[in-house]
Amino acid sequence: MTNGRIIKVAGPLIVAENMQDSKMYDVVRVSREGLIGEIIELRGDKASIQVYEETGGLGVGEEVVSTGEPLSVELAPGLIESIFDGIQRPLVKMRDLSGGRIGRGLKVDSLDHERKWEFTPLKKVGDKVVPGDVLGVVKENTLIDHKILVPFGVEGEIRSIESGKKTIVEDVAVIATAKGDRAVQMLRKWPVRRPRPIKEKVSPYMPMVTGQRVIDTLFPVAKGGVAAVPGPFGSGKTVVQHQLAKWADADIIVYIGCGERGNEMTDVLNEFPELIDPKSGEPLMKRTVLIANTSDMPVAAREASIYTGITIAEYFRDMGYNVAIMADSTSRWAEALREMSGRLEEMPGEEGYPAYLSSRLAEFYERAGMVRVLGTEDVMGSITAIGAVSPPGGDLSEPVSQATLRIVKVFWGLSAQLAYKRHFPAVDWLTSYSLYSDKLNLWFDKNVDPDWEKQRAAAMRILQEEASLDEIVRLVGMDALSQEDRLTMETAKSIREDYLHQNAFHEVDTYASLKKQHKMLRLILLSDELGRDALSRRVDVEDILALPVREEIGRSKYIPETEMEKLDAIEQKLKQSMAALISEGEI
Ligand code: ADP
Repeated sequence: MTNGRIIKVAGPLIVAENMQDSKMYDVVRVSREGLIGEIIELRGDKASIQVYEETGGLGVGEEVVSTGEPLSVELAPGLIESIFDGIQRPLVKMRDLSGGRIGRGLKVDSLDHERKWEFTPLKKVGDKVVPGDVLGVVKENTLIDHKILVPFGVEGEIRSIESGKKTIVEDVAVIATAKGDRAVQMLRKWPVRRPRPIKEKVSPYMPMVTGQRVIDTLFPVAKGGVAAVPGPFGSGKTVVQHQLAKWADADIIVYIGCGERGNEMTDVLNEFPELIDPKSGEPLMKRTVLIANTSDMPVAAREASIYTGITIAEYFRDMGYNVAIMADSTSRWAEALREMSGRLEEMPGEEGYPAYLSSRLAEFYERAGMVRVLGTEDVMGSITAIGAVSPPGGDLSEPVSQATLRIVKVFWGLSAQLAYKRHFPAVDWLTSYSLYSDKLNLWFDKNVDPDWEKQRAAAMRILQEEASLDEIVRLVGMDALSQEDRLTMETAKSIREDYLHQNAFHEVDTYASLKKQHKMLRLILLSDELGRDALSRRVDVEDILALPVREEIGRSKYIPETEMEKLDAIEQKLKQSMAALISEGEI
């Protein structure tokens, strides 16, 4: 293969000639320093290359060598608890090697090739295997069993398989295939821009339970679903993300941070490792992979980071895990795309973003889903993708938000106004939506309570009625409302303050099981229903609102999961005190 020569350097983009032997998306090494780049455009013998490292000092005439391989990630034990940059270079190790800032042209393996892991075979000599079958496991840590799968394209009979301590590059098995014996190691490589194969995608049907009431009850996301959350500054986006990472019933978390300002990313790097996994009491990092684009890295790496992240997510999905991937924020990612496109001198679309912005975003979100994974057995795995958008000025009409909203099926609209009133999580019930609701309601009705869907609908209706009554109150005052409308307003207030409001920092309130969510909402709605009945029997609304049991309903969020019978006791009390009010009126 002939080497190319740089003919132009434009920031993170370089153009090289004499590149006729290379292919689109080949990884190249640039200059004597060996900077890593990727071909993103080929015209004749000229290649445009996005360089993942600082290009300062590069000059015309320096050499460019194609590796002939696409941008790929390493997949093997050692992924969990790692912190990578956008092209899967291990951040901590890189910093150690170069002291502080990341040095250029460093050649570091993404994963540790020397560390030994205890491999326990699950197959034996003579077993027939196909791609995706589990050859064996490595206990990556106390929380994660890392399954070693038969690689794609390898099918046959196991000739040998060995337990014991191995590095990820040592042979663990030999498989006799139609094309001869094939030694298998733990390490897999996979090109990031290509989805990993599956048997089939199935339509998501069960929720990813988050324990956050406004999400699970009103705007649930499915396992394998796609959601977006906008984050005006101070709206509680970070807390929402941490709550999801901690509480969502996902086995593995992949978090991609594309912060623009350096300190945003430093926050993530400091905060994430501090989080404790409530389910195990261990650090959350023990089931997390972090990808961080820090500010000292060129934009090109940011562009690649979401593909790196989703490929790692797919790898764990293929083991049958439920993975949650969070990209924060896709707006910063899109800006990287825009910058590269500008340097390529492509025809700009809306607000300078390339015309392919939507299709690139879609390519990312499409890799989420609930799937039947490869292998002899019938195993499901899922990737749930949650993308944050951070539109300038909070204006959702800009291209990145719009493109995102066309793709995702759940939108948690964080509202600066609610946050200002200290209503957390500041998810606006009037602008948010979940297109999974109908489907998931079937699941909730069957698995939690047959009344789930009815309750949800009732709660939504009351909140919407409140919004229209608010208008009237603004115009003519509270006194103009009928007794029924007063009650509606009070019920809505109770839904907002006693139910939707949830304190992430309160030991009990931080998480509510579906059962508890259902019982809590039931109390509020029953109180409304019985109140309405009482009104029809000439009880005054003020007397209903003065019932002491209402306060207990307000505090029901602080009842621990283990004392759920207390919720039933409140329900009894509610029924009794309403009945007493009515009979008092009748005397
Ligand atoms: P952002 O990341 O959007 O700038 P944060 O997530 O840091 O905002 O939230 C800002 C502050 O709001 C937090 O420090 C916390 O005090 C409060 N907050 C946000 N969400 C909650 C919540 N669910 N419960 C209690 N407080 C919250």
